[in-house]
Parts: sequence; C-alpha cells; structure tokens
Amino acid sequence: MSRTLQLDLPDETAMVACGGQIAAALAPGSVVFLEGDLGMGKTTLSRGILRGFGHAGAVKSPTYTLVEPYELPGQNVYHFDLYRLGDPEELEFMGIRDYFSADAICLVEWPERGMGVLPPADIVINIERRGAGRALQLAGQSAQGDEILARLELS
Ligand code: ADP
Ligand code: MG
Repeated sequence: MSRTLQLDLPDETAMVACGGQIAAALAPGSVVFLEGDLGMGKTTLSRGILRGFGHAGAVKSPTYTLVEPYELPGQNVYHFDLYRLGDPEELEFMGIRDYFSADAICLVEWPERGMGVLPPADIVINIERRGAGRALQLAGQSAQGDEILARLELS
C-alpha cells in the first residue's frame, strides 16, 4: 500500500495518452481520486481514461450533476466532480454507494470535498504544474491500487 509513480507530461496530448495507459491498468471496481487545482488537467486525464475504455465523444465536467455515467462496452465508468458539493451528506442522498460497486470504475475530481462519505481510493493521482506541462504523482492506497501501479510501470 505504498507504491508511487511520478510522471512528467509535457502537454495535453501526453495527458490523454497517459489516461489510456491508466485505463489499461485499471480493474473492475477501481476507485481513482484526482487531486490538483482548477485547470491542472483532472478532466483531461479523465477523458483519456474514458477514451481508453472506448468513449469517443466529449467529456464534460459533471459540475452540476456531480456525476456523469458512461456505459461503455464491457465497463461502466462513473466520472464525479465534487467541486460544487456543499456537504458530503449530499452524497448519501444521491445514493453514492450504488455507484461504487465491485464492477464499476469510479473517477473522482475534488475527492477532498466528499471526505467522510466517499469510499477509499485505490489510487490517488495528484497533478501539479511543472513548467508548461504537468507533474503527476500516482500513489497506491490499497493492494489493488499497488497492482494497478505495477501494471502501469510495465506499460
Ligand atoms: P481540471 O479538470 O483539473 O480543472 P482541465 O482538464 O479541465 O483541468 O483543464 C486543464 C487545462 O490544462 C486544459 O486547458 C488542458 O489543455 C491543459 N492540460 C492538460 N494536461 C496538460 C499537460 N500535461 N500539460 C500542459 N497542459 C495540460
Ligand atoms: Mg475538471
């Protein structure tokens, strides 16, 4: 539960490609937290992950609905953005537990706003600015998370 991986991604194209590699390393039930300030690329990386699962269209930030469901061939992915969450209890009212099932993949932007109600992550991805690009730190938070990072290191 302590594996970490650092990546330097120079531009948006690299970010989307990295999302594809992450998608290939994820497993059903994976929970991914995406941390970093506004504009760091959380939605861009989510788009790359969704592309990796076969989603061809746009990815809008699900700011007003809190969650956008993607029913993709062979894999349901739920993309959360909790930026505008007022109180973590709202997550109880929306039936959060139904989304975090054993066979779905959940991507969560602004997970810190749902602390106490959100289930724990398998991996936490922190994104920071580095020059014109972005530095990513991926941290395993569970045995499954470490396996995801091990697969990613080999890819
Ligand atoms: P967030 O969801 O974190 O608020 P977005 O993904 O909506 O951020 O926006 C990120 C912005 O940063 C976009 O303009 C995108 O083109 C740019 N971007 C994404 N990844 C990178 C990267 N690796 N290097 C430089 N710019 C990036
Ligand atoms: Mg976003």
